[in-house]
This record gives sequence, C-alpha cells and structure tokens, in this order.
Amino acid sequence: MRTKIVAGNWKMNKNLQETEALLTELSAKLPDTNATVIVAPTFVNLQAAQTALGSSTIKVAAQNMHFAESGAYTGEISADMLLSLDIDTVILGHSERRAYFGEDDELLAKKVNTAIEKGLKTIFCFGEELEDRKSDKHFDVVESQLKNALFSLDASAWKNIVLAYEPVWAIGTGETASPEQAQEMHAFIRKTISDAFGAAVADEVSILYGGSVKPGNAGEIFGKPDVDGGLIGGASLVADDFVAIIAAI
Ligand code: PGA
Repeated sequence: MRTKIVAGNWKMNKNLQETEALLTELSAKLPDTNATVIVAPTFVNLQAAQTALGSSTIKVAAQNMHFAESGAYTGEISADMLLSLDIDTVILGHSERRAYFGEDDELLAKKVNTAIEKGLKTIFCFGEELEDRKSDKHFDVVESQLKNALFSLDASAWKNIVLAYEPVWAIGTGETASPEQAQEMHAFIRKTISDAFGAAVADEVSILYGGSVKPGNAGEIFGKPDVDGGLIGGASLVADDFVAIIAAI
C-alpha cells in the first residue's frame, strides 16, 4: 500500500499571525485520515508553524532548499538548517522555482542529491507547459524532467522521494487536468520509474497530482488508481477547503 499524501504548498502567503491562525483552525478541523497531511509555509514561519501545531499529526515541510552544505550563499537555506528545526521534508522543483528563479534540471539534480544525502524526504515537482501538451510533447517533457533530475539516484533513495505531477497550465489557473488526464500521466510516470528502477520501486512511490485541486474535484482525481494524493496551492490557504480535500482522499 502506497502512502497517501495531501500537502499544502502555501507559497509566499500567510504572515506569522495568519500562519498560527490557519494552523490552529486546521488542527481543530482535521478529519480522521490515513493520509499524511503536510503544510509548507514560508521559511520564516517554519518554527512557529511547528509550535502552533503542537502534537497535531500535521507535518511541516519547506518549499525549497539550497544544494550547498553551508557558506557564502546570501539569502539561502541549507538542508542542515531545516533538519535542525526537525523539518524532514522539502519541496523541490516547483514550476514557479523553475520559471521565476531559473531552476533547471541540472540544479534540481544537485538539490535532490543533497536532500537525499541528508536524509530529507523530497517532494519533487515537475510537469509540462501548455505548449508541450498542445504539441503532444507532454510525455517526452515529463520523462526528461524525471531522467535529468532523478535517474542518477540509487534505487534505495526512492523511499524518500515523493513525486508531484503538476501540469503548469493547471497551476493557479482554475483549469484542472481531467481525472483521466491525471491517471494517464501518473501511469506513464510509474512505468518510467519501473523501467529505470524496477517495479518494486515504482509500486511504492507516491505520485501526487497538483494543479487547481479543489474540494469539488479532489474526490474524482484522488479516486484514480495511480494518484496517491495531491499538492494543493490556493485551496490549502483556506482551512475548510483544505480539510474537505483531505476528507476526499
Ligand atoms: P494550485 O497550486 O492548487 O493553486 O493550482 C498548486 C501548486 O502550485 O502546487
């Protein structure tokens, strides 16, 4: 049985007080679930988030990380810094990092390697752009994103990898991949991993869908056999919406 995961990527939203308020509301309303529930607030509020969550089962993750151990990288955050806060999960490769901060596959491979070496669980995001899908290149694009960033890993690293397929055209746009489109791509991703690392690795890896998941469409998307949960942006900022999405898994 693969781990089901619902993760909220808060992006650059919620100040300290809002973070505390949302997490207090979320822990109070959290439904009974077998899924792992994760929130990823901004770096500056990671510690406050953990304090606000107290003994809640909700986990806190970081949205990004630098690949270097430490040193002269003004404004950056290292794996050790996250670990020192008891943060054991990091999101890497989000399309906004790729688009606005120039993160390419080569850089992401370094980040993933560091995260794995340090024992951090990595939620690795990838997905095609609209033109790729229109020109029927979406499978090729996804395959090369996976290959370039993840295929030099040892098979043993995969126990700490979660994949998040996020078609760029569906992020923050209100446009969702249909459950069938999500399933088709997730099955392709699993096969790609199986071909490279074997069926046992592929069967175990959780593959999340991300891109305009809302309470109204979560159940249908999560119902597909190769969709193991979601990475939620906008709807994770509203407790009732996030809770409804968790309840849908
Ligand atoms: P969205 O964002 O749910 O607002 O589309 C998803 C994401 O960027 O992870």
